[in-house]
Amino acid sequence: MIEVKNLKKSYGHLDVLKQITFDVNKNDVVAVIGPSGSGKSTMLRSLVQLETIDGGSICVSGDYLVKDGVYSKPADIKNITAKMGMVFQHFNLFPHLTVKENLELAPKLVKKQAPSAIQQQSKDILEKIGLSSHANAYPSNLSGGQKQRVAIARALMMNPDILLFDEPTSALDPELTGEVLQVMKDLAKEHMTMIVVTHEMGFAKEVANRVIFMDNGEIVESGHPAELFENPQHERTKAFLNRSL
Ligand code: ADP
Ligand code: MG
Repeated sequence: MIEVKNLKKSYGHLDVLKQITFDVNKNDVVAVIGPSGSGKSTMLRSLVQLETIDGGSICVSGDYLVKDGVYSKPADIKNITAKMGMVFQHFNLFPHLTVKENLELAPKLVKKQAPSAIQQQSKDILEKIGLSSHANAYPSNLSGGQKQRVAIARALMMNPDILLFDEPTSALDPELTGEVLQVMKDLAKEHMTMIVVTHEMGFAKEVANRVIFMDNGEIVESGHPAELFENPQHERTKAFLNRSL
């Protein structure tokens, strides 16, 4: 579903991503772990064209966003990035819109669907994540966990083929992480393809079918969670896991 080859990204003299290569298959849940500053967010942001890369290729469902450092034309980029939904650490909800309006804004602007169909979809999704009673609330009246669930619902409204999560629980009080992880687990059970940058090793072990360990702009190793957590091959992975588990 996603093929990334030799992805390079620099900020001035700082090489943030050094020739990163990985694949994501349909129905994969890939957990990306690694120390702060290792390039995890930059990698996710590159996939949805929130960052422009300096070299390499990104191919999504057979269509190249960028091939050998050359980007596709803007209309194609728009179509390709529309296949991916992104959930951010700090929710990024529109504060002046209600929950329902947050969900319906992008589909109304982008999709060629009747407003009634979009309203039905937002109703269904809110029901699914248990926030129907908050449809007319504003983000400022929600808990962090509820805000993040709304952010996930908003991403789902665009019917993405793949969801990208950048530390979705890192901004939450510990007692609120469970409800967000539960929504993500439910999505995994429904075979949603996901890439999840996370510090939640329990989630990675339980839900992911692959873990990628990044350090210093490189993928140091990747593998099935049982292998990578129980039997890491590289000293850098061992050192990181010893600090994190
Ligand atoms: P992670 O998400 O793993 O913590 P990031 O992708 O956020 O790592 O950052 C990787 C490196 O790139 C860090 O050294 C960070 O300081 C640097 N970096 C990120 N964004 C920028 C930017 N806009 N300008 C300059 N340096 C940046
Ligand atoms: Mg980050």
